[in-house]
Amino acid sequence: MKQYGLIGRRLDHSRSPEIHRHFFDHYGIEGCYGLFEIEPTNLAELPHALALLGVAGANVTIPYKEAIIPFLDRLSPTAQAIGAVNTLVCSGGKWVGDNTDAYGFSALLKHHGIEVEAQRVCLLGSGGASKAIEVALMEAGVGELILVTRQAEETRRKYEAAASEKPWLAQALAQDRLQIWSYETLETRKTPFRLLINATPVGMGSLSGQSPVGEGVLAGCEAVVDTIYNPRETRLMAQARSLGIPTAGGLYMLVAQAIASQGLWQAMEADPRWIDQLHQRLLRGDSAKDRPIFLIGLPGSGKSTLGKALAQALGWSFEDMDNYVEQLSGSTIPALFEQGEAYFRDWESQACLELAQRRKTVVACGGGVVLRQKNVQVMVDQGRILWIDRPLEAIRQDIDRSTRPLLQKDSEALTRLDQERRALYAEAAAMRIPNEGTQGRVLTEILEALAH
Ligand code: NAP
Repeated sequence: MKQYGLIGRRLDHSRSPEIHRHFFDHYGIEGCYGLFEIEPTNLAELPHALALLGVAGANVTIPYKEAIIPFLDRLSPTAQAIGAVNTLVCSGGKWVGDNTDAYGFSALLKHHGIEVEAQRVCLLGSGGASKAIEVALMEAGVGELILVTRQAEETRRKYEAAASEKPWLAQALAQDRLQIWSYETLETRKTPFRLLINATPVGMGSLSGQSPVGEGVLAGCEAVVDTIYNPRETRLMAQARSLGIPTAGGLYMLVAQAIASQGLWQAMEADPRWIDQLHQRLLRGDSAKDRPIFLIGLPGSGKSTLGKALAQALGWSFEDMDNYVEQLSGSTIPALFEQGEAYFRDWESQACLELAQRRKTVVACGGGVVLRQKNVQVMVDQGRILWIDRPLEAIRQDIDRSTRPLLQKDSEALTRLDQERRALYAEAAAMRIPNEGTQGRVLTEILEALAH
């Protein structure tokens, strides 16, 4: 069996194995595709390690698309023109760096019918993906490309230096066809764009729920592409949608670049019709049914017990948000509270963002997760919220107050929490589940509610 894989630093939310599995099934190839998380200090050894393991080809992602270059034997002309690598091909015992991101982005534009010829386009970020997109846009005949970066002066210097090895870049800079702006310039100039592209990680992972630009910038755009594919709709896309601007996410690009990488490894042409079919299939698989389920409610309302039972019934994973906060922060909940409730809530918001990107996961939330509207927004956008509503008397009989910082002070604290939060739970949740009677009965009620 031939082995392939993805090299990056944090890969737990990658969809690449799923895409490559479909490819192997479709073409009847005996292959497997793994995830190789490596630390920057080990990058130099990577090509040798891949050869030792018998890996036939690999993809490269954040943050190694440029950093890997010094350790490769040579670059393909495409990777040379881009200055970044997303595909490693083993050829005659040597590692060749190639790049299929430009192909993936061109395929995305074509699929969504976005024309950029002779148009003004704005591209956010100057990393590996951005460099491939620049080449794709130049090849598509873009009129004016505005590259927006957090460090305009430094990026300009780097681009001018790189121009000696990239003839297309030297020409584009000389003709002012490629301009480098800061975000301040972008926000103040209010320039209209045919297309705005996000090639930064703002909107995914720990930056989920954030947008790289304000609505003032978007107002002048005719279309928005976010190269992020998880979450399916980023904050930037939601902003654009609310302004009536058409949007596209990064899933099509992801599929197209992956199949083009397979084309390089298997020495065959990527079939655009099959890319379309696979894209549709992945979109269907992304259906609302896989989105995480968040259980909210007062401490002691049964969220963890019911959450575990629900996860088992669905064949999903279970996460306790407080445990996740402890792992994330490396501290206990009482210790976090000792630094002030806001400090704990910041960690909780971070956990909320990360867990919202899971698929097929039931999350038992902390009782106060609804106190921040941004947490509710993330959970509503990315998942479904169920309110587990248990009578206060039943909670009082069971609860272990020693482990609940907010209930330690006095016996009436629970009543006050209920008064403060009831309306918030009701407003946030798609459904209220009364937790009365046996666990089996409540679980059946939840499963029936979810089926609708
Ligand atoms: P990268 O090489 O790390 O570059 C990302 C760039 O984004 C950085 O160079 C930086 O540019 C900017 N950036 C980083 N952190 C930022 C922050 N906190 N705020 C504002 N800007 C920030 O990563 P990459 O491989 O290019 O990936 C970038 C994005 O493209 C990711 O979201 C990734 O998921 C997506 N992508 C999608 C596909 C696909 O197939 N759909 C393929 C590749 C990449 P400046 O320093 O110039 O501001």
